[in-house]
Amino acid sequence: MTPSALTLPSRVTVADCWARDGLQNEPRFITTQAKVAVIDAIVESGIEQVEVVSFASPKATPQFADAADVLRQMQRREGMLVRCVIPNMRGLERAIACTQDGWGVDAVGFPLSASEAHNIANLNRTHAEHMPELEGITRRAKDEGFQVVASVSTAFGCPLTGDVPRAQVLEFVTFFRDIGVDWLMLGDTTGMANPRDAYEMHVLSAQIAPTVRLIGHFHDTRGNGMANCFAALLAGVTCFDACMGGVGGQPAGGQQRYHDGETGNVSTEDLVHMLAEMGIQTGIDLETLLSAGRLAETAMGRPLRSQVLATGPVHRHSA
Ligand SMILES: [Zn+2]
Repeated sequence: MTPSALTLPSRVTVADCWARDGLQNEPRFITTQAKVAVIDAIVESGIEQVEVVSFASPKATPQFADAADVLRQMQRREGMLVRCVIPNMRGLERAIACTQDGWGVDAVGFPLSASEAHNIANLNRTHAEHMPELEGITRRAKDEGFQVVASVSTAFGCPLTGDVPRAQVLEFVTFFRDIGVDWLMLGDTTGMANPRDAYEMHVLSAQIAPTVRLIGHFHDTRGNGMANCFAALLAGVTCFDACMGGVGGQPAGGQQRYHDGETGNVSTEDLVHMLAEMGIQTGIDLETLLSAGRLAETAMGRPLRSQVLATGPVHRHSA
């Protein structure tokens, strides 16, 4: 290696969250058949993790009313981690029931906002109410053999209250380490992170919770998403969430609905392409992934926000 070479991991896990994070705020119900077709194509690409459903109340989030059907119908690959979101104990019970029926999940996840105002607005609980509940959920989930994926939302700022002190975010990192979660993400809920903060906060979190696997989860609300992923990669993070077509994410202002193209997660297609171009293995076949991206556009009825899907991968005229 030359002295000027950049040291990067040789392999990174990419988790696609299109069917959950991506669709959570999608106003139109995407049919089970269309969801499953996209998930199957993503699975076919060789991806190692998918987040496919939320067991939120179907009344509150009708998009996930078919969660059990999606899990029953989707393809699976040996060794792949299937994740879901469970906002509460009732959601965990539904995930357990599906798993006992033979079409369940490997990991359950939940958010807690570092900003208390956001936690109350989004999840109807104060920190004091929410933390013991999450501790109980984690214990029960671990007893059932699930891996647990915790998210500290608004880790880089809150759309309601602005700055969230780093110390406050790191207190929740400590809390999640202490209750024994397996995976932890610092959620850039409304795309307020920049690469410097992304780097430093992941370094600090890894120091506090060295046994917990960190997941980089960035929203591309203001165009910083890929740069933030790269900064977290430099900080030692080797698992990243993304969504096909860069869909999903929360409304940037905390009030207005999500509008096409205004916000969203980092695009899975673009992230996988960037990693591949740097020689980092993900186990994902890009062409198959791009086919999944086209299916996602069909399912959602509009062009999505993936640069590589629009322009095609880098073509190297080496021959
Ligand atoms: Zn997200």
